[in-house]
Amino acid sequence: MGVRVRFAPSPSGYLHVGGARTALYNYLYARANGGTFVLRIEDTDAARSTDESVRAIFDSMRWLGMTWDEGPGVGGPFGPYSQSERRVHYDAHAKALREAGRAYPCYCTSVELDAMREEQATRKAPLRYDGRCRGLSDAQRAEREAAGAKPALRYALAPGGETAWDDVVRGAVTFQNDVLDDFVIVRSDGLPTYNFACVVDDHEMQISHVIRGDDHISNTPRQLLLYAAFGWAPPIFAHAAMILGADGSRLSKRHGASSVEAFRDLGIIPAALDNFLALLGWAYDGTREIFTLAELEELFKLERVGRTPSTFNMEKLEWLNGQHLKRESEESRARYVREFLSTRGEDVSAHTEEWWVLFVRMLGERLKTLVDAKTYGRFALEDKLEMDAEAWTSVIERPGAGDRFEELAARLEGDNEFSLASLEALTRELAAASGLKAGELIGLARVALTGRKISPGIFEVMVLLGKERSVARLREAAARWRAEAGVSRA
Ligand code: GLU
Repeated sequence: MGVRVRFAPSPSGYLHVGGARTALYNYLYARANGGTFVLRIEDTDAARSTDESVRAIFDSMRWLGMTWDEGPGVGGPFGPYSQSERRVHYDAHAKALREAGRAYPCYCTSVELDAMREEQATRKAPLRYDGRCRGLSDAQRAEREAAGAKPALRYALAPGGETAWDDVVRGAVTFQNDVLDDFVIVRSDGLPTYNFACVVDDHEMQISHVIRGDDHISNTPRQLLLYAAFGWAPPIFAHAAMILGADGSRLSKRHGASSVEAFRDLGIIPAALDNFLALLGWAYDGTREIFTLAELEELFKLERVGRTPSTFNMEKLEWLNGQHLKRESEESRARYVREFLSTRGEDVSAHTEEWWVLFVRMLGERLKTLVDAKTYGRFALEDKLEMDAEAWTSVIERPGAGDRFEELAARLEGDNEFSLASLEALTRELAAASGLKAGELIGLARVALTGRKISPGIFEVMVLLGKERSVARLREAAARWRAEAGVSRA
């Protein structure tokens, strides 16, 4: 049998780092082994599942490039792929277990169960279902049902023994069955519990490997007991270590951005997030760190998923993002920037494609996240210039700056070529004519045109702004300089 893996999210929120990593490991394992990647939506908990969350999961997975071979939207031979549509499968298998004597109806109300647990707690005994409904006779059951009680169905655990498996990541894992109890497999409302639905689906969908986070490790013995009760061969399990926040506790929302969408909004590109997620628990050779998704699809090995928890590191993600952006062509980098700014409500149609290419060329390696386009390129994106107070102070102190702005404006206005070369030539000429070093004049122009003391190359800045905006900003600076420098001298 070939490799068949699944990602089985419960749609009760966005796709978070942990889930995205689980999805990715499954996806990569399928691709690296010519297998099949199944997406299954575990939405039996109607109170917590939302369509919005399902959509968010689809969007995030598509954005990350994880296409599923079977699942919602694409279908497949073992559908439907949403648990809410698979009720008949669970009903049939629950009935079979009951008939085989491996499950029994339980009529306990939540009040009774609470009282039982409370009593166990005062005795400092383990909190476990005590099996009180297990020995009911047919007559007693019939009596309760006649009184309108809706039973849950519980798995009938055999006393003693242990459940063990060989985990691809963690090695041999053993649980004493006595730590478990007669757990519920179908609730009194008729809906299957996670452990039961998961086993039925993984079996029916012929899943060969279950790759998931080790927060599920305590579910695995229950699932293995169900496989045994059905007489089914279980899949191979691989439980990846959890992901920690910088403070060493389990990664959660409290640590900042944690959903795929949040990283997209922070200007992270999919290739970088895929790369980063892969490295949260997997290593290639301990040296190489940069991989495209296509490379990961070839190189990923489950055996190299480590058992120690990894720490989420935002600086590393930003660094990887810069590395991936750097490897893109200018055209594609320009496309990323344009699309990103456009989703943030920026009017990107005001500029040509060539302009955007020049824009990213100007940003150079400052572009680590797409937000940097805004941070470092604001002067070119917005019509209104935001003047940095300190930068302006440095200009006010320069005698004759007003005239220099005026003269430079006039020369720019007369330059029909408006190329990097022509702009450089006219700026140097003007500097020489006014007895300034080129760098001094450029420094002044930088403040007038970008509002800051540090900026990308000034001639690129001019080309990006275009003649009209460049001239207007220089004239504005001239007027402001005259007004303020005049006042301060008076
Ligand atoms: N629906 C479960 C979850 O989201 C799936 C766990 C599993 O992979 O078995 O955690």
